[in-house]
Amino acid sequence: MYTNEILSPASIEEALTLKDQYGSEIYPLAGGTDVLVMVRNKLGVWGDSPPLLNLNTIPNLNVIQETEDSIEIGPLVTHTQVLESPLVKKFIPTLTKAVSIIGSPQIRNLGTIIGNICRASPAADTLATLYSRETLIQVQTVNSLELVPINKFITGPGLIDIPKNGLVTKLVVPKLEGYQGDYISLRQRYALSIVVVSIAVEALLVKEESRIEDIRISLGAVAPTIVRATQTEHLLKSQLFTKELIEQAEGLIVEETKPITDIRSNKRYRKAMTGVLLGRILKSLLP
Ligand SMILES: Cc1cc2nc3c(=O)[nH]c(=O)nc-3n(C[C@H](O)[C@H](O)[C@H](O)COP(=O)(O)OP(=O)(O)OC[C@H]3O[C@@H](n4cnc5c(N)ncnc54)[C@H](O)[C@@H]3O)c2cc1C
Repeated sequence: MYTNEILSPASIEEALTLKDQYGSEIYPLAGGTDVLVMVRNKLGVWGDSPPLLNLNTIPNLNVIQETEDSIEIGPLVTHTQVLESPLVKKFIPTLTKAVSIIGSPQIRNLGTIIGNICRASPAADTLATLYSRETLIQVQTVNSLELVPINKFITGPGLIDIPKNGLVTKLVVPKLEGYQGDYISLRQRYALSIVVVSIAVEALLVKEESRIEDIRISLGAVAPTIVRATQTEHLLKSQLFTKELIEQAEGLIVEETKPITDIRSNKRYRKAMTGVLLGRILKSLLP
């Protein structure tokens, strides 16, 4: 029906009008590192590919900016930009770490963080941190604008809840000042490989009292979407931060995680590693 049609709007308004016109038949194109593979795999023949809505011709979509309580990230911000951003390094260091190991320099130069979210892979590297931060996704259509929590936006592997005529036009990542944390991913090697298990922790510690005031723990590649380890968070919250507590948390996170076996790993290993990785991060935060 369509032959490699690439529509290149000059403004976000024009892009939204085209999305309204074509609905789910048109695929937004940011860095293209996922969508071009998807289009090829789905249709096999380039001659039959659906039209693409190229966002790259729209100015000012590659902006990272600070507001009073959040960092806002535009639809064309690449992983390399996130990696090099002093704002991200200052306010969301776990995200700086997460993007530093994505793919390869070429993939990081092209791939965008919003593309990573819209691909909705449970193994995507940016998602665990964004879940721990309770990030909001700005979804826009020609006549609406909504901020959707990331855990409502992603509904399954490769699935997002977005209107047929909608585009993601911004990410709003809370600053969480005073929190400390880390992102760790296990993979077969450090370049061009897919996550086997990942974890992002954001914790607010009251060092004088050796207490954990708040903690958010998100796990990747252990369920159809990223999941929060809510029971383990509950165990740790408002408690004295001791080695014994860490041991209990390591045991509980293994209990509450329900991964599957697939070609990249098996469920026993994934479960065990959630405890190991959590313990590693918590010990590094011990005052
Ligand atoms: C060799 C290779 C290695 C990789 N390694 C990793 C890795 O280590 N870790 C990792 O997490 N990922 C990895 N990826 C996956 C990919 O690079 C990332 O998911 C990347 O962030 C996708 O961003 P993009 O801009 O290229 O998205 P695109 O391919 O342009 O788009 C991805 C999806 O999002 C949709 N989309 C894009 N922008 C919008 C928007 N504004 N509104 C609505 N929908 C939109 C597209 O239609 C498509 O469905 C790898 C990919 C390749 C090819």
